Amino acid sequence: MRIDVISLFPDFIAQCAAFGVTGRAIERGLLSVHGWNPRDHAEGSYRRVDDRPFGGGPGMVMLIDPLRAALRAARDADPAPVRTIYLTPQGAPLTQAKVHELAERGRILLLCGRYEGIDERLVEAEVDEEISIGDYVLSGGELGAAVIIDAVARLQEGALNDADSAAQDSFENGLLDCPHYTRPVEHELGAVPPVLMSGNHAEIARWRRQQSLERTLRRRPELLDGVDLSPADRQFLAG
Ligand code: SAM
Repeated sequence: MRIDVISLFPDFIAQCAAFGVTGRAIERGLLSVHGWNPRDHAEGSYRRVDDRPFGGGPGMVMLIDPLRAALRAARDADPAPVRTIYLTPQGAPLTQAKVHELAERGRILLLCGRYEGIDERLVEAEVDEEISIGDYVLSGGELGAAVIIDAVARLQEGALNDADSAAQDSFENGLLDCPHYTRPVEHELGAVPPVLMSGNHAEIARWRRQQSLERTLRRRPELLDGVDLSPADRQFLAG
């Protein structure tokens, strides 16, 4: 998969992508991340990328032309079709289902705003989709781009050392993940639940399912509406 990022801070994106699972996915040739700085496409000795908003008011707005030139350079760098996504607090909230959809694409292009945002005409003409990483306002789209890069990198086949681990994560089956424990069995903070050392795989699976159901009910009850619950699940939740 190829991800292009339009950002005034492409080094930040490169740094974020260099570590952990994302870094390994890049090393293994499963993913490539390319930064494009609109300032490199700006004109004049100041290489200006922003200007004051029409109508007055605070802040600056990102100019159309440097962004459009950077978008074109990024698109032309590879012949594969690309979906252009603007990171904005006004976009659709990012979900694990959306991450799966993006991870299955061969190529995406992430557009990061700064200041008050981007001239709306560029958004209307060039953007396919707007995504938000939450109901709060950041000073730039770079953290959102880094979030998407990380989330899609770990879904690339071969990125995780254990292929099953992503399938068991929160949201994959609609529920939150169960709690996890490791050595030591006894600790001053408590003991590991005995069922996990029973060797009874059916019992362990049942316990984990019930923990997931209980956590989801307690922390994110609205998620249960989208889950295909078995009769045993319903009985457990009712009890
Ligand atoms: N004036 C804009 C508004 O209120 O909708 C906010 C602009 S924000 C200060 C600057 C840039 O940060 C945005 O253009 C966007 O790229 C990015 N950004 C801020 N919050 C974000 C969020 N929750 N999700 C994704 N991107 C965000």
